[in-house]
Parts: sequence; C-alpha cells; structure tokens
Amino acid sequence: MKNRILVKDLAGKLGESVVIAGWLNTLRDMKNFGFAIVRDRTGLAQVVVDVAQLEQLKGLQLETVVKVTGVIKEKKSKDPSIKEVEMQAETLEILSPVVDVVPVEISKPELDVQLDTLIDNRVITLRHPKQRAIFRVQAALVHGYRQYMEAQGFTEIFFPILAGAASEGGAEFFKVDYYGREATLSQSAQLYKQITMGVYEGVYGLSYSFRAEKFATSRHLTEFNQFEFELGFVDDMDEVMQHAEDSIRAMMATVERGCADELALLNVTLPPLGEKFPRITLKAALEAYRDEGGVDETSEPDLSPAGERWLSTVWAPKHFGSGFVFVTDYPTVKRPFYAKRDPNDQSNTITFDLIGFGSEIISGGMRINRYDEQVQALKEKGLNPADFEDYLTMHKFGIPPEGGFGMGLQRLTQNVLGLANIKEATIFPRDVQRLRP
Ligand code: ATP
Ligand code: MG
Repeated sequence: MKNRILVKDLAGKLGESVVIAGWLNTLRDMKNFGFAIVRDRTGLAQVVVDVAQLEQLKGLQLETVVKVTGVIKEKKSKDPSIKEVEMQAETLEILSPVVDVVPVEISKPELDVQLDTLIDNRVITLRHPKQRAIFRVQAALVHGYRQYMEAQGFTEIFFPILAGAASEGGAEFFKVDYYGREATLSQSAQLYKQITMGVYEGVYGLSYSFRAEKFATSRHLTEFNQFEFELGFVDDMDEVMQHAEDSIRAMMATVERGCADELALLNVTLPPLGEKFPRITLKAALEAYRDEGGVDETSEPDLSPAGERWLSTVWAPKHFGSGFVFVTDYPTVKRPFYAKRDPNDQSNTITFDLIGFGSEIISGGMRINRYDEQVQALKEKGLNPADFEDYLTMHKFGIPPEGGFGMGLQRLTQNVLGLANIKEATIFPRDVQRLRP
C-alpha cells in the first residue's frame, strides 16, 4: 500500500501526518474521545479518535480492516522515561468490514483457550501476537537452515509427495486414489535423497512426511515437515552429525538475530547449546538414566519419552551445558533396512538420534550404499527385495559411501519454544480427528 507506515516505524515519524492500516484490535470509549488500537503485522498502535469517529467505529466489529491517516504525537505517560507515540486520527477509511461476531477474543495479552478452540478458530487465533510470533520463529529456523546448507555448497532438492508404494515398507501410510490405481502419501524422502547421492554429493530440502498411525501424543502429527540432509563420500558418521549440530547452531543464531521481539513476547530463552553437543551410545544413555536418573530402562531397546526428556533437559545441560545430545549405536532391529550395520557387530547400526530439549528431533546415520549389502539387509529384515526395485536399482549403479538425517520442523519448533503440544508449533495441524481448517 502506497505511503503506508508500519506500526513499528511510527516512533520515527513524530509530528508528521502518516497513513497506517491494520485491524481494529480494541476500542475504548472515553466519553469525549476514544482510543482505537490498530494492529498490523508489526505491532499495536494507539489511535486517538474524536466523538464522531468514535461513533463511526462503534458501529463496526473488532477485526474490521481500517486505514487511518493522522498525526504522530508523543503519548502522555505516567513514567516520563517511557517514550511512546500515538496517532491523532484525521481520516478513517474502512477497507474490509467484519460481517460476523469474532468467535475468540484476541486483544488480551494471553489467548487462554483450549488447544482445540485455538486450532478450530485458526482464522482468528493466528492473529494473536503470540501465535504470530511462533510462526515467525519457525520461518527463521527454516531460513537459518537454508542459509547454512547453501553456504556449504549443497543442492536444494524438492521431493515428491505422491508415491507408488510405501517408502519404508511400513504398514502405516495413507492411500490415495491415483487414476484408479493405488498411490500413497510419502512417509519419508529417503529413497530420493539417496538417489541424488549419485550426482550432487550434498543435498538438503524441506520435505513433507505423512504418517498414518493413530497418534494420541503431544509429539506426533499425521502430516509434518522434515529438514532433509544427505552427504556422499563420507567415511565417518561424525561428519554427518557435525552438519546436524552446525545447522542447528546456525538456525538458533538466525532466530536470536531476527526474532528478539518474538522471543521476548513468548518469554522464551533458547535452549543452551554448549561448546559441543555431547555424544553418547544408547547403551550408555540407558545406564546414565538408571544410575543418575533413577529409572531403569536398560532392558528396553530405546529410551522412553521420559528418558529422552531427562537426557536432554537434565543430563546434557548438567554435564555439557547443552540441551542437545546425540545418541548413537541403535540396535539393527530398531532401525530401517537402509541403515548401515556396524562391521564388528551386525546387531548394531551406525546411526544416531539427536534429542533436542525434550524429545527426538533428528534421526540419521550412515546408509548401506552397496547393492549386495542392501539385498542381504532387506532379506534379514524379512522384506522381499523384489518390492524395493527403486532402491536396488540405485544401488546397482554406484552410490558412494554416504549418510544423512531428517529433522522434524514442527518438533524442533515445539522444543525450542517449550510448547506443550506439537500442534501449537504447527500452523494448520492435521491429526487423527482433524482435517480442517
Ligand atoms: P518418533 O520416534 O519420535 O515417533 P520416528 O523415529 O518414528 O519418530 P523418523 O522417521 O526418525 O521418526 O523421523 C525423523 C524426524 O521427524 C523425527 O526425529 C521427528 O523430529 C520428526 N517426526 C517423526 N514422526 C513425526 C510425527 N508423526 N509428527 C511430527 N514429527 C515427526
Ligand atoms: Mg527416528
């Protein structure tokens, strides 16, 4: 909009007549005049209106889109050290009227609604400054990731969502009617990432994954995004983990630089990063949880959600000043068919998870790159190699030693901001019950 000034820039316009535009956030009747609070994407502006303008605004619903021209003045404040400005309205224009009652009050500092109400009324609740802030932080995380990967000289790949068969052979996938044939929604970009190892050596991208389990946890969605990464000519998994760590450091720095206001509004301190993210084998992690955390899960094949929380919010901060911790050496039975086995122990894989301030945010590791090894691994998993034609075709034609990872975008946002439910970190979440809005 021509000549429009954003609310955040009004302080620099003292004494000038300017145009602002936004939503009518609140209206206060002070008898001989009124205060209209106008919200734009950068903040709230106090607009002083005269009786006639007040009457005009009173006939409107909150959230009406308005354009106001007026002079910027210093706001009278009880505390003279606080310098704030307000606008004395000259003209008012309605750009878009509201035609129904706004279902949720969003002018209070806290929304204070149940999760379902929050999501059901996304059209309105997303406008609350705290909700807006969450997805500004999320966008900064994505930006930081892209910048990091681009600076490494890696290539961004766009992965397909429609697939012919379940990508990891699991049963929990969504079926789609595809011209009378059965298609599935992608569970993972794994196959495609690995195929690109025959060309680009280093790739990244933001993929969509769909999981059809009937989840009822605070960490699972049926549709989510993953930061993908895959790197060729790797002889040591450390190299892959280092990129995971460095990309997270870059993402946090981007959020810190660009989202100071959002973090303050959300009252969030980012998780500690420490000098280096600690690395611990699954076995040692389970033993630490038993010995220091007092919970014995050493007979389990994996850490429980409570164990992951303890390891990343108690153990790692205490010993390493870090809210992130790599757990390595997962048993072969717990990892997919493409996971590289430990040459000294076939029951162990060269894989890792990164637990990030509450729960798993990354799974990664070295991949099987040779044809014979992959055929053998499929058979040992009880899978039929004939069902994995695309995987095996790639392996026939020279894939270098390689590894990579997938990092959940919404999971990372949830943990970084300390949100109780992953749906709060998802702008339009999909779950077992929900396909709208
Ligand atoms: P989990 O054990 O937490 O259920 P997973 O090991 O089944 O996850 P992966 O296939 O390893 O999931 O996916 C890689 C990353 O994607 C996970 O580390 C997590 O951050 C994210 N992720 C996985 N499943 C979901 C989901 N259902 N909803 C949201 N994010 C998910
Ligand atoms: Mg995983």
